[in-house]
Amino acid sequence: MTAHARLSASGSQRWLNCTPSLLLEEEFEDTTSDFAKEGTLAHAVAELKASKYFLKGIGPKNFKKGMDIFKQDELWNPEMDRYTDDYFDYLKSLSIGLIGRPYVAIEKKVEYGEWADEGFGTADCIMISGDALHVIDFKYGKGVPVYPEENTQLMLYGLGAYASYGFLYDIKQIYLHVVQPRLDNFSSWGLTIDELLKFGEYVKGQSSKAIAGEGDFKVGEHCRFCRAKAVCRARAEENIKLAGFTKIEPKTLTNEEVGKYLFQAQDLKKWVSDLEEYALSESLAGREVLGWKAVEGRSNRKITDELGFAEILVGAGFEEAVIYKPKSLETLSNLEKLVGKKELAELGKELIIKPQGKPTLVKLGDKREAITNVISAEEAFS
Ligand code: SF4
Repeated sequence: MTAHARLSASGSQRWLNCTPSLLLEEEFEDTTSDFAKEGTLAHAVAELKASKYFLKGIGPKNFKKGMDIFKQDELWNPEMDRYTDDYFDYLKSLSIGLIGRPYVAIEKKVEYGEWADEGFGTADCIMISGDALHVIDFKYGKGVPVYPEENTQLMLYGLGAYASYGFLYDIKQIYLHVVQPRLDNFSSWGLTIDELLKFGEYVKGQSSKAIAGEGDFKVGEHCRFCRAKAVCRARAEENIKLAGFTKIEPKTLTNEEVGKYLFQAQDLKKWVSDLEEYALSESLAGREVLGWKAVEGRSNRKITDELGFAEILVGAGFEEAVIYKPKSLETLSNLEKLVGKKELAELGKELIIKPQGKPTLVKLGDKREAITNVISAEEAFS
């Protein structure tokens, strides 16, 4: 089992922003989902591929043996092979682009205890070349894109790496990289060592508050993965306050207010579903949640033996053509898993199209280009 630091880098958004969350979270069980387990397997595959190339010592025979073991895992999927190749290709081209031959460490334990009590984590890859230190993080998730800009997890790894190598190399610049191949997200961000150490000072202050359970509860995006999110009073109060918007003059909202409330209400939907999930688990555990209970949900009828039933229907005089659905192709994402992303795009280059997406509202920081349906005078004339 992997050991986790109390002041973990992956949870740092929470304990840095909402310092009392650290102690509150410890009252709740940590549940690891299958997604997390899938990520662990993908990391192990990525580690083997990177180690074979950079660290040597793993011959083709041992590499094959390692891969065969991974392929036996119930969470293994051929697309894992391709996505870990994408990660490995990124590492390879980064190292080739650096001056001279870089120092490379794979799955390196980095300790940032100097700034956050007993804090440590594992950096997927570290490269040092000249005065630059690179921290590369492989993200296997495809739910939310993760970016390196001001990413506290990567900055903590950067601090830990600096603690390990700062006395050996004259490091002046830090580059943080996120490789999230399932979302086609390959991004990097640089900062100076002075900026990183300034962040370290901030970490020192916030981590001692967190350990002592001091500071104010602060609600924000970081609540998303908090173990206390369903029952945290601060979050509840914030959302209830929002739900009961007080009198606003004039009678209609300005676009500025719409933007502001939308921002604040982002959490409301999530909070309600967190409450539902929590109330269901409490009811199932036999604990009363005032006014609510758990029941068996609606379900659809199911045929237990399709072939057997088809025979009965044919025997009763129905033709196969009318009792079977027409043959249809698998979804593109399933075909992609089967064939491979690049290969499928090549095979279907004349037949796969991407229709225009439905207009969607996102935050200003989103990397996609803004659209409007305002027609310019020039377009109207043409
Ligand atoms: S839910 Fe949010 S506000 Fe509440 S403890 Fe967790 S991080 Fe802090």
